[in-house]
Amino acid sequence: MSAPLIIAVDGPAAAGKGTLARRLAAHLGLPYLDTGLLYRATGRRVLDAGGDPARDEDATRAAQALQPADLERPDLRGPPADDAASKVAAIAAVRAALLEFQRRFGRARGAVLDGRDIGTVVFPEAPVKLFVTASPEERARRRHAELVARGAAPPLAEVAADMAARDARDSARDAAPLRPAADAVLLDTSTLDAEAAFAAALRIVESLQAR
Ligand code: C5P
Repeated sequence: MSAPLIIAVDGPAAAGKGTLARRLAAHLGLPYLDTGLLYRATGRRVLDAGGDPARDEDATRAAQALQPADLERPDLRGPPADDAASKVAAIAAVRAALLEFQRRFGRARGAVLDGRDIGTVVFPEAPVKLFVTASPEERARRRHAELVARGAAPPLAEVAADMAARDARDSARDAAPLRPAADAVLLDTSTLDAEAAFAAALRIVESLQAR
């Protein structure tokens, strides 16, 4: 029997990878995991305990104690969770604690997983890897629109600055930095709406599977 299909969808914040990965999973009948939630929930646990998300011991303890129910929390989105997630995510012991959960999830029935290091670290052997990007201006515009739709209205410049800081931290860290796998296919969604991005991704998936 062939191994269950793993599709890795990596890329920076607000590039459209979550929407895309969810749609691919639904279309292909595969489970979907938003791996950012693991880091977000870990960051939240640290904040709840009054700890510092950038401190190794606080963050590692939280990652090791993570429960599936933590991923259902309603407060995992928004600037404080964004910031705490990218701080805990720079800590190698946190990443190690969350690695097995991700691998077990994918190996059970195959999966579409979105994140930063799925194609490079979590499933380097995945047959399909997409690296989804968009220009920093477009990503900031999308994240701003999302926040406005949720009733928050920070200035666009503030959203752009937070996002640039998070991008820099995700790319510069030693532990699993954000970068495309050598065999990832790049998909720039700057000028694509969700429908066009999905159609382009599906073409890539089908062509990779046909090899
Ligand atoms: O994807 P999302 O924006 O929800 O991820 C939140 C943060 O979690 C990212 O900024 C990144 O620091 C971290 N992350 C990661 N590796 C992943 C997924 C998320 O480092 N696979």
